[in-house]
Amino acid sequence: MVERQKDSWENPTAFLALKQLQSNPRVKYIVIAAPNDACHLCLSLVGTYPKDQVPRLPYESCSLPHGCRAFYMPFIEEVYP
Ligand SMILES: [Zn+2]
Repeated sequence: MVERQKDSWENPTAFLALKQLQSNPRVKYIVIAAPNDACHLCLSLVGTYPKDQVPRLPYESCSLPHGCRAFYMPFIEEVYP
């Protein structure tokens, strides 16, 4: 019996973080950030994405043996009174 891959995110922390950001109306975009020692694939993901077009993390093609180190950050548009 093959296990369902309905939600194959390896890192529930990243998944929950993304869900939280997506449900926050103050978050305009979602930024993917990665430390400088992340692999080049992860670094190539670094950028700002519309909330519904965010790539999954950890990046499945990540080449680091200890796993992907890219992470989500909110892009919040400050509204001045
Ligand atoms: Zn990586």
